[in-house]
Amino acid sequence: MRVVDVAHLTKIYGHRLNRVTALNDLSFHIDAGEFVGIMGPSGAGKSTLLNTIATIDTPTSGEVIVAGQSLSQFSESESARYRREQLGFIFQEFNLIPDLTVADNITLPLTFVPPVPDDLDTRLARFAHLLGLESMLTRYPEQLSLGQRQRVAAARAMISNPALILADEPTGSLDSMAATELLQYLTKLNLEEDVTIMMVTHDAFTASFCNRIIFIRDGSYFAEVTRRGPRQQF
Ligand code: ADP
Ligand code: ADP
Repeated sequence: MRVVDVAHLTKIYGHRLNRVTALNDLSFHIDAGEFVGIMGPSGAGKSTLLNTIATIDTPTSGEVIVAGQSLSQFSESESARYRREQLGFIFQEFNLIPDLTVADNITLPLTFVPPVPDDLDTRLARFAHLLGLESMLTRYPEQLSLGQRQRVAAARAMISNPALILADEPTGSLDSMAATELLQYLTKLNLEEDVTIMMVTHDAFTASFCNRIIFIRDGSYFAEVTRRGPRQQF
């Protein structure tokens, strides 16, 4: 099944005398269960692409379809619902809420807008287990290492069982040990839980955990590499 279909996507910022083409006829797709890296130099259009998939930016032309839904058809409230129910986000800076415990941070996507699902505690236990956070649920973000904080963010991204996880430089604030550990967890979620992940990164080591890497340049598709042979399981 196809989770993301980007078709002839073009985004032009600005007006007549000051136009910037951020995305230029970009096309690619991502199938369910893939862990895809998006790489490209600064200014290639990676953030614009993420923002378009997140319905924060609207395209100038072309189309994005996520889990069968054409994003351009959405009203404001449908966009908000789509972001909440279909997407999970992992950011470079974690974006955890300092006043909430780890448990409350993880479940926030489900408690923020009622009704709260009956299986909240089961889901919390499941994702805390999958990300090795069982012993930290009553702590606060500042009491965790940076790597642990990013695992909390990953659990939060997963808790609503989204169709797609969007990760934006998820290892950008981590040292190499914590980065490796996070990427091992993401690989485990991808391989064992069949989670589909699209990860923007400029770091080749980080991208090496993906099953496929798409390179974009000047807003256009440039090349891609697909891993041959099995991926390491931990
Ligand atoms: P629109 O055409 O959608 O109105 P604008 O070109 O007016 O968009 O810019 C929207 C916002 O992005 C403005 O706040 C502007 O300052 C900012 N911006 C402008 N140029 C750049 C750029 N090269 N990179 C990042 N942000 C920019
Ligand atoms: P990347 O994330 O790969 O560095 P971006 O998507 O941020 O690339 O930017 C792609 C191009 O679009 C760049 O030339 C950037 O300056 C421009 N750009 C991004 N956002 C805006 C904006 N809001 N207004 C005007 N230009 C923008």
